[in-house]
Amino acid sequence: MMRLILVILCYAACVLSSNDNSTPRIIIIGAGPAGIAAASRLFENGFTNFTILEAENRIGGRVYSEYMVDLGGQWVHGEKNNVAFELAWPLGLIERSNESYESEFKIFGSSGSSLSLEISQDLKEFFFSLDSNLIDIENLKTGTFGEYADAKFEEYYKNHPEISAELHKPLRDMINLGQMGSDGADNWYEVSAKGSRDYPTCDGDNNINWKNRTYGTILDILMKKFPNPEEELPILNNTHTSSKVTEINYNEDSTLVKVSAADGKEYLADHVIFTPSLGVLKANNNQLFNPPLPEKKIRSIENLGFGHVGKIFLYFDNPWWHTNDNKLSVKLIYWTEADRKEIENDPERKWMLGIFSVFPVEHKPKLLCIWLSSNHSTEMELIPEELFHNQTSEFLNRFFGHEHNITEISGIKRTMWNTNENFRGTYSYHGLETDTANVTNADLAEPIMRDDKPILQFAGEATSEHYSTVHGAIESGWREADRLINLYSNKN
Ligand SMILES: Cc1cc2nc3c(=O)[nH]c(=O)nc-3n(C[C@H](O)[C@H](O)[C@H](O)COP(=O)(O)OP(=O)(O)OC[C@H]3O[C@@H](n4cnc5c(N)ncnc54)[C@H](O)[C@@H]3O)c2cc1C
Repeated sequence: MMRLILVILCYAACVLSSNDNSTPRIIIIGAGPAGIAAASRLFENGFTNFTILEAENRIGGRVYSEYMVDLGGQWVHGEKNNVAFELAWPLGLIERSNESYESEFKIFGSSGSSLSLEISQDLKEFFFSLDSNLIDIENLKTGTFGEYADAKFEEYYKNHPEISAELHKPLRDMINLGQMGSDGADNWYEVSAKGSRDYPTCDGDNNINWKNRTYGTILDILMKKFPNPEEELPILNNTHTSSKVTEINYNEDSTLVKVSAADGKEYLADHVIFTPSLGVLKANNNQLFNPPLPEKKIRSIENLGFGHVGKIFLYFDNPWWHTNDNKLSVKLIYWTEADRKEIENDPERKWMLGIFSVFPVEHKPKLLCIWLSSNHSTEMELIPEELFHNQTSEFLNRFFGHEHNITEISGIKRTMWNTNENFRGTYSYHGLETDTANVTNADLAEPIMRDDKPILQFAGEATSEHYSTVHGAIESGWREADRLINLYSNKN
Protein backbone atom coordinates (compact mmCIF):
# COMPACT_ATOMS: atom_id res chain seq x y z
CA MET A 1 0.00 0.00 0.00
CA MET A 2 2.78 2.36 1.07
CA ARG A 3 4.51 1.67 -2.22
CA LEU A 4 1.33 2.46 -4.16
CA ILE A 5 0.95 5.80 -2.34
CA LEU A 6 4.56 6.64 -3.12
CA VAL A 7 4.05 5.83 -6.81
CA ILE A 8 0.92 8.03 -6.90
CA LEU A 9 2.71 10.89 -5.12
CA CYS A 10 5.65 10.63 -7.44
CA TYR A 11 3.33 10.61 -10.43
CA ALA A 12 1.60 13.77 -9.20
CA ALA A 13 4.91 15.53 -8.61
CA CYS A 14 6.22 14.63 -12.00
CA VAL A 15 5.92 17.07 -14.88
CA LEU A 16 3.77 15.51 -17.55
CA SER A 17 5.23 15.73 -21.00
CA SER A 18 2.40 17.96 -22.25
CA ASN A 19 -1.22 18.75 -21.60
CA ASP A 20 -2.44 16.45 -24.33
CA ASN A 21 -3.17 13.05 -22.80
CA SER A 22 -4.95 11.49 -25.73
CA THR A 23 -1.79 10.05 -27.29
CA PRO A 24 1.12 8.24 -25.60
CA ARG A 25 3.55 10.38 -23.65
CA ILE A 26 6.94 10.43 -25.34
CA ILE A 27 10.16 11.94 -24.03
CA ILE A 28 12.89 12.56 -26.57
CA ILE A 29 16.31 13.10 -25.03
CA GLY A 30 18.48 15.36 -27.18
CA ALA A 31 17.52 18.03 -29.73
CA GLY A 32 20.12 17.19 -32.38
CA PRO A 33 19.03 16.13 -35.88
CA ALA A 34 17.90 12.69 -34.62
CA GLY A 35 15.71 14.19 -31.87
CA ILE A 36 14.27 16.94 -34.08
CA ALA A 37 13.58 14.41 -36.87
CA ALA A 38 11.81 12.05 -34.45
CA ALA A 39 9.68 14.86 -32.96
CA SER A 40 8.70 16.27 -36.36
CA ARG A 41 7.72 12.87 -37.70
CA LEU A 42 5.69 12.10 -34.56
CA PHE A 43 3.90 15.43 -34.62
CA GLU A 44 2.99 15.10 -38.28
CA ASN A 45 1.42 11.74 -37.47
CA GLY A 46 -0.74 13.04 -34.65
CA PHE A 47 1.59 12.17 -31.74
CA THR A 48 1.50 15.60 -30.15
CA ASN A 49 2.19 14.53 -26.57
CA PHE A 50 5.98 14.71 -26.60
CA THR A 51 8.70 16.67 -24.86
CA ILE A 52 12.29 17.11 -25.96
CA LEU A 53 14.84 17.49 -23.16
CA GLU A 54 18.11 19.03 -24.31
CA ALA A 55 21.19 19.54 -22.12
CA GLU A 56 22.68 22.45 -24.07
CA ASN A 57 21.10 25.92 -24.11
CA ARG A 58 20.37 25.54 -27.83
CA ILE A 59 19.01 22.97 -30.25
CA GLY A 60 20.94 21.31 -33.09
CA GLY A 61 23.48 19.13 -31.29
CA ARG A 62 26.38 18.41 -33.62
CA VAL A 63 24.71 20.50 -36.31
CA TYR A 64 25.68 23.90 -35.03
CA SER A 65 26.87 27.15 -36.49
CA GLU A 66 28.17 30.38 -35.04
CA TYR A 67 28.92 33.43 -37.20
CA MET A 68 27.58 31.41 -40.17
CA VAL A 69 30.26 28.72 -39.90
CA ASP A 70 29.53 25.04 -39.43
CA LEU A 71 31.29 23.90 -36.29
CA GLY A 72 29.79 20.42 -36.70
CA GLY A 73 28.20 18.84 -39.79
CA GLN A 74 29.24 20.85 -42.84
CA TRP A 75 28.78 18.87 -46.09
CA VAL A 76 26.06 16.57 -47.36
CA HIS A 77 27.84 13.28 -47.97
CA GLY A 78 26.32 11.76 -51.08
CA GLU A 79 23.09 11.89 -53.03
CA LYS A 80 21.56 8.45 -53.41
CA ASN A 81 19.76 7.10 -50.30
CA ASN A 82 20.66 10.31 -48.51
CA VAL A 83 17.66 11.89 -46.77
CA ALA A 84 19.47 15.20 -46.23
CA PHE A 85 20.14 15.45 -49.96
CA GLU A 86 16.53 14.51 -50.75
CA LEU A 87 15.22 17.22 -48.42
CA ALA A 88 17.55 20.03 -49.46
CA TRP A 89 18.28 19.50 -53.14
CA PRO A 90 14.74 20.14 -54.48
CA LEU A 91 14.72 23.43 -52.56
CA GLY A 92 17.85 24.57 -54.39
CA LEU A 93 19.76 25.04 -51.13
CA ILE A 94 22.83 22.93 -51.75
CA GLU A 95 25.53 22.74 -54.38
CA ARG A 96 27.76 19.96 -55.71
CA SER A 97 31.46 20.50 -55.04
CA ASN A 98 32.42 21.17 -58.65
CA GLU A 99 29.57 23.54 -59.46
CA SER A 100 31.19 26.83 -58.52
CA TYR A 101 34.74 25.78 -57.76
CA GLU A 102 37.59 23.73 -59.02
CA SER A 103 39.71 22.39 -56.16
CA GLU A 104 43.48 22.63 -56.34
CA PHE A 105 45.61 20.67 -53.88
CA LYS A 106 49.10 21.60 -52.76
CA ILE A 107 51.23 19.95 -50.08
CA PHE A 108 53.32 22.08 -47.71
CA GLY A 109 56.01 20.91 -45.26
CA SER A 110 56.93 22.16 -41.78
CA SER A 111 60.15 23.61 -43.22
CA GLY A 112 58.03 25.94 -45.35
CA SER A 113 58.74 24.29 -48.70
CA SER A 114 56.00 22.87 -50.87
CA LEU A 115 55.75 19.92 -53.26
CA SER A 116 54.97 20.50 -56.92
CA LEU A 117 51.32 20.73 -57.96
CA GLU A 118 51.72 17.50 -60.00
CA ILE A 119 53.04 15.48 -57.04
CA SER A 120 50.46 17.04 -54.72
CA GLN A 121 47.59 16.33 -57.07
CA ASP A 122 48.66 12.74 -57.71
CA LEU A 123 49.07 12.00 -54.01
CA LYS A 124 45.67 13.50 -53.29
CA GLU A 125 44.09 11.23 -55.92
CA PHE A 126 45.83 8.24 -54.38
CA PHE A 127 44.49 9.34 -50.96
CA PHE A 128 40.93 9.68 -52.26
CA SER A 129 41.08 6.26 -53.92
CA LEU A 130 42.22 4.51 -50.71
CA ASP A 131 38.88 3.84 -49.09
CA SER A 132 36.93 3.31 -52.30
CA ASN A 133 39.31 0.56 -53.35
CA LEU A 134 39.32 -1.81 -50.40
CA ILE A 135 39.94 -5.17 -51.98
CA ASP A 136 41.95 -8.20 -50.80
CA ILE A 137 41.41 -7.29 -47.19
CA GLU A 138 40.44 -10.82 -46.13
CA ASN A 139 44.13 -11.74 -45.94
CA LEU A 140 45.19 -8.90 -43.67
CA LYS A 141 46.94 -10.07 -40.50
CA THR A 142 45.54 -7.40 -38.19
CA GLY A 143 42.41 -6.47 -40.16
CA THR A 144 43.15 -2.76 -39.75
CA PHE A 145 42.75 -0.06 -42.36
CA GLY A 146 46.34 0.94 -41.46
CA GLU A 147 47.80 -2.41 -42.50
CA TYR A 148 45.95 -2.18 -45.81
CA ALA A 149 47.03 1.46 -46.35
CA ASP A 150 50.69 0.69 -45.53
CA ALA A 151 50.77 -1.95 -48.28
CA LYS A 152 49.17 0.47 -50.74
CA PHE A 153 51.71 3.15 -49.82
CA GLU A 154 54.62 0.77 -50.39
CA GLU A 155 53.35 0.08 -53.90
CA TYR A 156 52.70 3.80 -54.50
CA TYR A 157 56.19 4.86 -53.47
CA LYS A 158 57.74 2.16 -55.67
CA ASN A 159 55.94 3.70 -58.62
CA HIS A 160 56.85 7.26 -57.62
CA PRO A 161 60.64 7.49 -57.25
CA GLU A 162 60.34 11.27 -57.56
CA ILE A 163 59.15 11.31 -53.91
CA SER A 164 62.30 11.15 -51.77
CA ALA A 165 62.55 8.41 -49.12
CA GLU A 166 62.73 10.90 -46.26
CA LEU A 167 59.24 12.12 -47.19
CA HIS A 168 57.69 8.64 -47.18
CA LYS A 169 56.75 8.54 -43.51
CA PRO A 170 55.76 12.23 -43.17
CA LEU A 171 53.43 12.03 -46.18
CA ARG A 172 51.93 8.75 -44.99
CA ASP A 173 51.34 10.29 -41.55
CA MET A 174 49.61 13.22 -43.26
CA ILE A 175 47.26 10.93 -45.21
CA ASN A 176 46.65 8.88 -42.07
CA LEU A 177 45.44 12.05 -40.30
CA GLY A 178 43.41 13.05 -43.37
CA GLN A 179 41.71 9.67 -43.50
CA MET A 180 40.94 10.00 -39.77
CA GLY A 181 39.21 13.29 -40.60
CA SER A 182 36.40 11.17 -42.00
CA ASP A 183 36.76 8.13 -39.72
CA GLY A 184 37.29 10.06 -36.52
CA ALA A 185 39.61 7.48 -34.92
CA ASP A 186 43.02 8.46 -33.57
CA ASN A 187 44.85 6.64 -36.36
CA TRP A 188 44.13 4.07 -39.04
CA TYR A 189 45.60 1.19 -37.06
CA GLU A 190 42.45 1.47 -34.90
CA VAL A 191 40.01 1.36 -37.82
CA SER A 192 38.52 -1.84 -39.21
CA ALA A 193 39.28 -2.39 -42.90
CA LYS A 194 36.13 -4.50 -43.16
CA GLY A 195 34.06 -1.74 -41.53
CA SER A 196 35.39 0.78 -44.07
CA ARG A 197 34.75 -1.57 -47.00
CA ASP A 198 31.20 -2.36 -45.88
CA TYR A 199 30.17 1.23 -45.11
CA PRO A 200 27.17 2.08 -47.33
CA THR A 201 28.55 5.31 -48.79
CA CYS A 202 25.82 7.23 -50.58
CA ASP A 203 26.61 7.46 -54.28
CA GLY A 204 27.10 10.89 -55.82
CA ASP A 205 29.06 13.90 -54.67
CA ASN A 206 30.24 13.52 -51.09
CA ASN A 207 31.18 17.16 -50.50
CA ILE A 208 27.96 19.01 -51.19
CA ASN A 209 27.95 22.45 -49.59
CA TRP A 210 25.16 24.69 -48.29
CA LYS A 211 26.22 27.73 -50.34
CA ASN A 212 25.83 30.85 -48.17
CA ARG A 213 23.74 28.98 -45.58
CA THR A 214 24.80 26.44 -42.96
CA TYR A 215 23.82 22.81 -42.34
CA GLY A 216 21.46 24.05 -39.59
CA THR A 217 18.94 24.81 -42.34
CA ILE A 218 18.16 21.08 -42.33
CA LEU A 219 16.56 21.50 -38.87
CA ASP A 220 14.29 24.23 -40.25
CA ILE A 221 13.32 21.97 -43.13
CA LEU A 222 12.55 19.11 -40.73
CA MET A 223 10.41 21.40 -38.57
CA LYS A 224 8.74 22.84 -41.70
CA LYS A 225 9.96 26.31 -40.78
CA PHE A 226 11.62 26.37 -44.18
CA PRO A 227 10.51 27.21 -46.85
CA ASN A 228 7.31 28.60 -45.30
CA PRO A 229 7.71 29.87 -41.70
CA GLU A 230 3.93 29.93 -41.31
CA GLU A 231 3.83 26.14 -41.57
CA GLU A 232 6.35 25.60 -38.76
CA LEU A 233 5.51 22.61 -36.57
CA PRO A 234 5.41 23.53 -32.86
CA ILE A 235 8.46 21.39 -32.04
CA LEU A 236 10.27 24.16 -30.16
CA ASN A 237 7.22 24.79 -27.95
CA ASN A 238 7.71 21.26 -26.62
CA THR A 239 11.48 21.55 -26.23
CA HIS A 240 13.21 22.31 -22.94
CA THR A 241 16.79 23.44 -23.44
CA SER A 242 19.29 23.49 -20.53
CA SER A 243 17.53 20.33 -19.29
CA LYS A 244 20.19 17.74 -18.77
CA VAL A 245 18.85 14.26 -18.13
CA THR A 246 20.55 12.56 -15.21
CA GLU A 247 18.58 9.34 -14.86
CA ILE A 248 16.22 7.21 -16.90
CA ASN A 249 14.37 4.85 -14.62
CA TYR A 250 12.64 2.04 -16.49
CA ASN A 251 12.16 -0.14 -13.45
CA GLU A 252 9.78 -3.06 -13.85
CA ASP A 253 7.65 -1.72 -10.96
CA SER A 254 6.02 0.80 -13.27
CA THR A 255 4.70 0.70 -16.82
CA LEU A 256 5.95 4.26 -17.18
CA VAL A 257 9.53 5.42 -17.55
CA LYS A 258 10.67 8.16 -15.19
CA VAL A 259 13.17 10.65 -16.56
CA SER A 260 14.99 12.90 -14.08
CA ALA A 261 16.78 16.09 -15.07
CA ALA A 262 19.59 18.01 -13.37
CA ASP A 263 17.22 20.89 -12.57
CA GLY A 264 15.22 18.56 -10.30
CA LYS A 265 12.30 18.09 -12.67
CA GLU A 266 10.93 14.64 -13.32
CA TYR A 267 8.95 13.44 -16.29
CA LEU A 268 6.87 10.33 -16.86
CA ALA A 269 6.56 8.76 -20.26
CA ASP A 270 5.18 5.72 -22.04
CA HIS A 271 8.20 5.81 -24.37
CA VAL A 272 11.62 7.41 -24.21
CA ILE A 273 13.75 8.01 -27.30
CA PHE A 274 17.39 8.48 -26.31
CA THR A 275 19.57 10.30 -28.88
CA PRO A 276 22.79 11.57 -27.17
CA SER A 277 26.10 10.56 -28.71
CA LEU A 278 27.89 7.25 -28.36
CA GLY A 279 30.53 9.22 -26.44
CA VAL A 280 27.92 10.15 -23.82
CA LEU A 281 26.73 6.53 -23.69
CA LYS A 282 30.28 5.23 -23.23
CA ALA A 283 30.99 7.65 -20.38
CA ASN A 284 27.64 7.69 -18.61
CA ASN A 285 25.51 4.64 -19.35
CA ASN A 286 26.19 3.33 -15.83
CA GLN A 287 24.75 6.39 -14.12
CA LEU A 288 22.07 7.20 -16.69
CA PHE A 289 20.10 3.97 -16.80
CA ASN A 290 18.32 2.32 -13.93
CA PRO A 291 18.33 -0.67 -14.10
CA PRO A 292 21.59 -0.91 -16.07
CA LEU A 293 21.28 -1.59 -19.80
CA PRO A 294 21.28 -5.22 -20.93
CA GLU A 295 24.62 -6.90 -21.61
CA LYS A 296 24.16 -6.91 -25.40
CA LYS A 297 23.57 -3.15 -25.43
CA ILE A 298 26.62 -2.51 -23.25
CA ARG A 299 28.76 -4.62 -25.58
CA SER A 300 27.71 -2.49 -28.55
CA ILE A 301 28.40 0.73 -26.61
CA GLU A 302 31.84 -0.47 -25.59
CA ASN A 303 32.91 -1.88 -28.94
CA LEU A 304 31.64 0.61 -31.49
CA GLY A 305 34.26 3.34 -31.85
CA PHE A 306 33.70 7.03 -31.10
CA GLY A 307 36.30 9.46 -32.39
CA HIS A 308 37.68 12.97 -32.26
CA VAL A 309 38.22 15.65 -34.84
CA GLY A 310 38.49 19.41 -34.64
CA LYS A 311 38.08 22.46 -36.81
CA ILE A 312 39.43 25.99 -36.52
CA PHE A 313 37.73 28.73 -38.50
CA LEU A 314 39.75 31.83 -39.28
CA TYR A 315 38.28 35.05 -40.55
CA PHE A 316 40.53 37.47 -42.41
CA ASP A 317 39.56 41.04 -43.27
CA ASN A 318 42.31 40.73 -45.87
CA PRO A 319 42.47 37.16 -47.17
CA TRP A 320 46.02 36.14 -48.09
CA TRP A 321 45.16 33.21 -50.36
CA HIS A 322 43.95 33.95 -53.87
CA THR A 323 40.21 34.59 -54.02
CA ASN A 324 40.07 36.12 -57.48
CA ASP A 325 38.97 33.05 -59.39
CA ASN A 326 36.83 29.96 -58.95
CA LYS A 327 39.66 27.88 -57.47
CA LEU A 328 39.46 26.50 -53.94
CA SER A 329 43.10 26.05 -52.99
CA VAL A 330 43.31 23.25 -50.46
CA LYS A 331 46.57 22.96 -48.57
CA LEU A 332 47.65 19.63 -47.08
CA ILE A 333 50.47 19.73 -44.55
CA TYR A 334 53.17 17.37 -43.27
CA TRP A 335 55.85 17.55 -40.58
CA THR A 336 59.42 16.50 -41.32
CA GLU A 337 60.64 13.86 -38.88
CA ALA A 338 63.03 16.28 -37.14
CA ASP A 339 60.32 18.94 -36.73
CA ARG A 340 57.82 16.34 -35.52
CA LYS A 341 60.20 15.14 -32.80
CA GLU A 342 60.82 18.67 -31.65
CA ILE A 343 57.17 19.63 -31.44
CA GLU A 344 56.15 16.33 -29.83
CA ASN A 345 58.13 17.42 -26.79
CA ASP A 346 56.48 20.82 -26.62
CA PRO A 347 53.29 20.42 -24.56
CA GLU A 348 51.91 23.79 -25.67
CA ARG A 349 52.36 23.19 -29.38
CA LYS A 350 51.96 19.49 -29.95
CA TRP A 351 48.26 19.90 -30.74
CA MET A 352 49.41 21.20 -34.14
CA LEU A 353 50.50 17.65 -35.03
CA GLY A 354 46.80 16.89 -35.55
CA ILE A 355 46.45 19.37 -38.44
CA PHE A 356 46.32 17.90 -41.92
CA SER A 357 44.50 20.45 -44.05
CA VAL A 358 43.82 24.16 -44.47
CA PHE A 359 41.17 25.24 -46.96
CA PRO A 360 38.90 28.17 -47.87
CA VAL A 361 35.19 27.69 -47.16
CA GLU A 362 32.87 27.62 -50.16
CA HIS A 363 30.90 30.85 -50.68
CA LYS A 364 32.55 32.52 -47.66
CA PRO A 365 35.52 34.22 -49.28
CA LYS A 366 37.13 35.58 -46.12
CA LEU A 367 36.97 32.33 -44.21
CA LEU A 368 39.61 29.66 -43.87
CA CYS A 369 39.17 26.31 -42.12
CA ILE A 370 41.92 24.30 -40.45
CA TRP A 371 41.00 20.68 -39.97
CA LEU A 372 42.62 18.35 -37.49
CA SER A 373 42.09 14.82 -36.28
CA SER A 374 43.38 12.37 -33.61
CA ASN A 375 43.70 13.09 -29.89
CA HIS A 376 45.65 16.23 -30.82
CA SER A 377 42.23 17.74 -31.62
CA THR A 378 41.37 17.37 -27.92
CA GLU A 379 44.70 18.98 -26.91
CA MET A 380 43.80 21.90 -29.18
CA GLU A 381 40.64 22.54 -27.16
CA LEU A 382 42.63 22.94 -23.94
CA ILE A 383 44.97 25.75 -25.05
CA PRO A 384 44.14 29.17 -23.50
CA GLU A 385 42.53 31.55 -26.01
CA GLU A 386 45.26 34.16 -26.46
CA LEU A 387 48.03 31.59 -26.72
CA PHE A 388 45.93 29.63 -29.19
CA HIS A 389 45.43 32.69 -31.38
CA ASN A 390 49.20 33.36 -31.44
CA GLN A 391 50.08 29.74 -32.10
CA THR A 392 47.65 29.53 -35.01
CA SER A 393 49.20 32.60 -36.55
CA GLU A 394 52.67 31.09 -35.99
CA PHE A 395 51.51 27.86 -37.66
CA LEU A 396 50.27 29.69 -40.78
CA ASN A 397 53.51 31.61 -41.08
CA ARG A 398 55.65 28.54 -40.62
CA PHE A 399 53.93 26.48 -43.30
CA PHE A 400 52.75 29.06 -45.82
CA GLY A 401 54.78 32.18 -45.04
CA HIS A 402 57.41 31.34 -47.70
CA GLU A 403 54.85 31.51 -50.49
CA HIS A 404 52.19 33.83 -49.10
CA ASN A 405 52.08 37.11 -47.31
CA ILE A 406 50.09 35.98 -44.26
CA THR A 407 47.80 38.75 -43.02
CA GLU A 408 46.50 39.26 -39.51
CA ILE A 409 43.74 36.93 -38.28
CA SER A 410 40.64 39.06 -37.64
CA GLY A 411 38.52 36.39 -35.94
CA ILE A 412 39.05 32.87 -34.72
CA LYS A 413 36.66 30.13 -33.63
CA ARG A 414 37.59 26.58 -32.73
CA THR A 415 35.44 23.55 -32.04
CA MET A 416 35.08 22.11 -28.55
CA TRP A 417 33.23 18.83 -29.17
CA ASN A 418 35.72 16.56 -27.44
CA THR A 419 35.81 18.29 -24.07
CA ASN A 420 32.08 19.10 -24.01
CA GLU A 421 30.48 16.50 -21.74
CA ASN A 422 27.27 16.53 -23.79
CA PHE A 423 29.15 15.14 -26.82
CA ARG A 424 32.53 13.73 -25.67
CA GLY A 425 33.82 13.47 -29.21
CA THR A 426 32.60 13.90 -32.75
CA TYR A 427 31.34 10.80 -34.59
CA SER A 428 31.39 7.04 -34.51
CA TYR A 429 33.41 4.51 -36.50
CA HIS A 430 34.01 0.77 -36.71
CA GLY A 431 37.20 -0.14 -34.90
CA LEU A 432 38.99 -3.43 -34.66
CA GLU A 433 37.04 -4.27 -31.49
CA THR A 434 33.80 -3.76 -33.44
CA ASP A 435 34.83 -6.72 -35.62
CA THR A 436 36.22 -8.82 -32.81
CA ALA A 437 33.18 -8.38 -30.59
CA ASN A 438 30.93 -8.79 -33.65
CA VAL A 439 28.69 -5.86 -32.72
CA THR A 440 26.70 -3.68 -35.11
CA ASN A 441 25.01 -0.28 -35.15
CA ALA A 442 21.73 -2.19 -35.26
CA ASP A 443 22.58 -3.69 -31.82
CA LEU A 444 22.85 -0.16 -30.45
CA ALA A 445 19.52 0.72 -32.10
CA GLU A 446 17.60 -2.20 -30.61
CA PRO A 447 14.86 -0.91 -28.29
CA ILE A 448 14.23 -2.22 -24.80
CA MET A 449 10.80 -3.81 -24.79
CA ARG A 450 8.21 -4.28 -22.07
CA ASP A 451 4.99 -6.22 -22.78
CA ASP A 452 5.76 -6.05 -26.51
CA LYS A 453 6.10 -2.25 -26.32
CA PRO A 454 9.36 -0.36 -26.88
CA ILE A 455 9.72 1.64 -23.68
CA LEU A 456 13.30 2.74 -24.22
CA GLN A 457 14.40 3.48 -27.78
CA PHE A 458 17.76 4.52 -29.17
CA ALA A 459 18.38 6.91 -32.06
CA GLY A 460 21.33 9.06 -33.13
CA GLU A 461 24.00 8.71 -35.79
CA ALA A 462 25.74 5.76 -34.11
CA THR A 463 22.56 3.68 -34.34
CA SER A 464 22.33 4.12 -38.11
CA GLU A 465 23.97 2.17 -40.94
CA HIS A 466 24.96 5.65 -42.18
CA TYR A 467 26.75 6.29 -38.90
CA SER A 468 28.87 9.45 -38.48
CA THR A 469 26.59 11.60 -40.63
CA VAL A 470 23.70 14.02 -40.34
CA HIS A 471 21.59 11.98 -42.77
CA GLY A 472 22.22 8.87 -40.63
CA ALA A 473 21.03 10.78 -37.54
CA ILE A 474 17.84 11.94 -39.30
CA GLU A 475 17.10 8.43 -40.57
CA SER A 476 17.49 7.08 -37.05
CA GLY A 477 15.07 9.64 -35.59
CA TRP A 478 12.49 8.81 -38.23
CA ARG A 479 13.06 5.09 -37.67
CA GLU A 480 12.18 5.38 -33.97
CA ALA A 481 9.21 7.67 -34.61
CA ASP A 482 7.92 5.15 -37.18
CA ARG A 483 8.33 2.34 -34.66
CA LEU A 484 5.78 4.09 -32.42
CA ILE A 485 3.53 5.20 -35.26
CA ASN A 486 3.36 1.57 -36.48
CA LEU A 487 2.84 0.23 -32.96
CA TYR A 488 -0.21 2.40 -32.36
CA SER A 489 -1.62 2.05 -35.86
CA ASN A 490 -1.52 -1.75 -35.44
CA LYS A 491 -3.35 -1.41 -32.13
CA ASN A 492 -6.27 0.50 -33.66
C1 LIG B 1 33.26 18.47 -36.29
C2 LIG B 1 32.18 17.67 -36.94
C3 LIG B 1 32.08 17.63 -38.32
C4 LIG B 1 31.07 16.89 -38.93
N1 LIG B 1 30.95 16.92 -40.29
C5 LIG B 1 29.90 16.30 -40.88
C6 LIG B 1 29.62 16.51 -42.25
O1 LIG B 1 30.30 17.28 -42.94
N2 LIG B 1 28.55 15.85 -42.80
C7 LIG B 1 27.77 15.01 -42.06
O2 LIG B 1 26.82 14.42 -42.61
N3 LIG B 1 28.01 14.82 -40.73
C8 LIG B 1 29.04 15.46 -40.13
N4 LIG B 1 29.24 15.33 -38.79
C9 LIG B 1 28.44 14.38 -38.03
C10 LIG B 1 27.05 14.89 -37.70
O3 LIG B 1 27.13 16.23 -37.28
C11 LIG B 1 26.45 14.00 -36.61
O4 LIG B 1 26.50 12.66 -37.02
C12 LIG B 1 25.00 14.34 -36.29
O5 LIG B 1 24.79 15.71 -36.16
C13 LIG B 1 24.60 13.62 -35.01
O6 LIG B 1 23.27 13.94 -34.70
P1 LIG B 1 22.56 13.21 -33.48
O7 LIG B 1 21.19 13.77 -33.39
O8 LIG B 1 22.75 11.75 -33.61
O9 LIG B 1 23.41 13.60 -32.19
P2 LIG B 1 23.69 15.05 -31.57
O10 LIG B 1 23.69 16.07 -32.63
O11 LIG B 1 24.90 14.90 -30.73
O12 LIG B 1 22.40 15.29 -30.66
C14 LIG B 1 22.28 14.73 -29.39
C15 LIG B 1 21.85 15.81 -28.42
O13 LIG B 1 21.74 15.22 -27.11
C16 LIG B 1 22.12 16.20 -26.16
N5 LIG B 1 22.46 15.54 -24.89
C17 LIG B 1 23.58 14.88 -24.57
N6 LIG B 1 23.49 14.40 -23.30
C18 LIG B 1 22.27 14.78 -22.83
C19 LIG B 1 21.59 14.60 -21.60
N7 LIG B 1 22.14 13.94 -20.59
N8 LIG B 1 20.36 15.15 -21.45
C20 LIG B 1 19.77 15.84 -22.47
N9 LIG B 1 20.38 16.04 -23.65
C21 LIG B 1 21.61 15.51 -23.84
C22 LIG B 1 23.30 16.90 -26.81
O14 LIG B 1 23.52 18.17 -26.24
C23 LIG B 1 22.86 16.95 -28.28
O15 LIG B 1 22.21 18.18 -28.58
C24 LIG B 1 30.19 16.12 -38.14
C25 LIG B 1 30.28 16.16 -36.76
C26 LIG B 1 31.25 16.94 -36.16
C27 LIG B 1 31.28 17.02 -34.66
